[in-house]
Amino acid sequence: MSIKILPEVEQFLAKEIHGGFVGGKEIFAHDGGTFETIDPGNGKILAKVASLQSSDVDQAIKVATEAFEEAQWARLPANERGVHLHRLADAIEARKDVIAQIESLDCGKIFAQAQDDVQNFVDTLRYFCGLAQNLSLETVIPASGHEASVVRHPWGPCAFIIPWNFPFLLCGWGVSPAMAAGNTCIVKPAEDTPLSTIYVAHLAKEVGIPDGVLNVIPGLGETAGAALSKHPDICRMSFTGSPEVGRLVASSCGANLVPVKLELGGKGAAVVFDDVDISDAAEKLVNAITFHTGQVCCDATRWLVQEPIYDEFVNECVGRLKDIRIGYQMEDETQMGPVVSETQHKRVLNYLEKGVSEGAEVVLEGGVADTGRNGNYVKPALLSGSLDNIAAREEIFGPVAYLAPFKDEAEGIRLANNTPYGLANSVWSGDLGRCRRVAAQFEAGNGWINSHNVVVHGVPYGGIKQSGMGGGVVSIETLLDYYRGISVIRPL
Ligand code: NAD
Repeated sequence: MSIKILPEVEQFLAKEIHGGFVGGKEIFAHDGGTFETIDPGNGKILAKVASLQSSDVDQAIKVATEAFEEAQWARLPANERGVHLHRLADAIEARKDVIAQIESLDCGKIFAQAQDDVQNFVDTLRYFCGLAQNLSLETVIPASGHEASVVRHPWGPCAFIIPWNFPFLLCGWGVSPAMAAGNTCIVKPAEDTPLSTIYVAHLAKEVGIPDGVLNVIPGLGETAGAALSKHPDICRMSFTGSPEVGRLVASSCGANLVPVKLELGGKGAAVVFDDVDISDAAEKLVNAITFHTGQVCCDATRWLVQEPIYDEFVNECVGRLKDIRIGYQMEDETQMGPVVSETQHKRVLNYLEKGVSEGAEVVLEGGVADTGRNGNYVKPALLSGSLDNIAAREEIFGPVAYLAPFKDEAEGIRLANNTPYGLANSVWSGDLGRCRRVAAQFEAGNGWINSHNVVVHGVPYGGIKQSGMGGGVVSIETLLDYYRGISVIRPL
């Protein structure tokens, strides 16, 4: 059954052009430029959005700098800033379904998952408010012959560039610690999915967050995104997206010596041992690869299975994947929605084709899924064979897993680590000692045991190698990144 679109959502979408939001006001591109955002589940235009240009981005950074210098935001005690941010969290929670519908329509994520993403933003905001309130802004350091301390201050205007797969949740992961520490923010959402980020900027104004603290600048990557990353007046950059664009952003920031945090792609492995509960592991990995239609950076896309259970495990997975209900993201019974865009649709199909042309065996045929709608639907697919295959090496970002057998623990670990990426791997076994041992040997930011896609507030989540740099998100380290420290020393 179709989920009924809420009147507030209809009203929001009916707007002729969605502007950016800067200094508490809507702004439009100085040249009048716009781009369209499409509902990936039916191919229809959802909204027209201002396509901000370089001079508009300059203006946003000026406003965020002035707000930092002149508004009281940075100087408020953390608990008073927390009052504002808790109001924002409450307002988001109260409009959870409105924002989740906007998110679901804009990025093709099934509604229930969009609801979880909205709640995650709320939880992130509350988590960082609590941490900031309890963090002493001065740490005394015992040093021989000296009186010494580190004093912390917020940096100033911080920039965020967000991808299309978790637009709202990732906006929350970015701006929550920055705002809780007293910084101002300029957020560039992805051109495919800008709407929920624009919505939250309006909501921030409504609950009384001072103008200029949370600014949103929709636009294309190569214009608005590039202008933001090249700007010398941003104090920090946090980029989440592909390694290719991450390199460009990092080099622009490097030219200005602006600190940059990169959260990039992945090619995670699940290492499944022969003493595992096969049915449980198969169910969880099938859920992982179909979660948000496989468009998840930390997903397990290489399934390494110990030889004695390889056939049985594969059969369990094939059976479950065949039963996945593919459909429109706003239908109650849908388990897997469309991919975000035509570009992404082609990308997934191309990888399947290239994988097979390089010799991969088709275990479960993917391809276009017929749902009777004009959307970007694909079927889940399983390939197997040499791990040198392109489909086993590169990030596909769709519901496609690549299977390979392994003999023993050492080989399982070696194969898992044999990738230029380093975001998240998982180990599956009935022997917890082995699980802990293997997880600790992964060359990745995250090692999960008998589960996949597990992100917990308080535990750092980040990537190494081509999956990122700069410390990650959702933990105390992230909050500390949003303060600059001064070491104050007096010889005694
Ligand atoms: P992308 O790199 O194409 O785009 C990300 C953002 O960068 C968008 O807002 C885009 O407009 C902007 N951009 C594009 N060109 C730019 C330029 N020249 N200068 C500045 N900004 C520019 O990535 P995507 O396709 O939107 O997202 C998918 C990628 O994101 C995947 O690789 C995925 O693994 C990764 N990702 C990583 C994490 C993580 O936490 N590690 C989370 C989500 C997604």
